[in-house]
Amino acid sequence: MIIPYDLEVSLNEYSQKGKANDFPVFDQCPNCQCTSSGNLYRNGFYWRNAVTQEVELRIPICRMKCLLCKANISILPDFLNPYFQYSLHTILKSVEQALEKKKGNGYRQLWRYHLRRFIRNINWIHNFYIDNEGDINEKGKKEAINYMKRILDFGESSFLRRSWGHLSTYFMAH
Ligand SMILES: [Zn+2]
Repeated sequence: MIIPYDLEVSLNEYSQKGKANDFPVFDQCPNCQCTSSGNLYRNGFYWRNAVTQEVELRIPICRMKCLLCKANISILPDFLNPYFQYSLHTILKSVEQALEKKKGNGYRQLWRYHLRRFIRNINWIHNFYIDNEGDINEKGKKEAINYMKRILDFGESSFLRRSWGHLSTYFMAH
């Protein structure tokens, strides 16, 4: 499992400190919640890329292992997104610039891929805010009206059939 963690350093500082960063000490295993003492131990590092507009770095990621549940735990500094080489800031910046249609900024190669992923994940982002804000706000209602219209225009049963299995799920499943 991956734990995003605020190590209170920038990417450059993290890179300089390397294996000497102030990695967390957990009281409990983040996976099985057993007492960490005697169970959770540091299990070396793996190396990954961390790329920005300015630098391409190889940085160590701290690993832990729980003897009780056998979970492998990685401490991911929170300026990185799992499985993306580019830093979180670089990803967001490239999407932002693509949305503003700014060109010639060096983000060109990145923006297509990141923008597509961002747009594809709009729902997920949207759900996060809806779940966190609790109440249904005006913006949410406006979007709901828009999608209701699209479903009805498409035909409700056509929509049910065509959307069936999309992202391995179905209409109103969650
Ligand atoms: Zn455990």
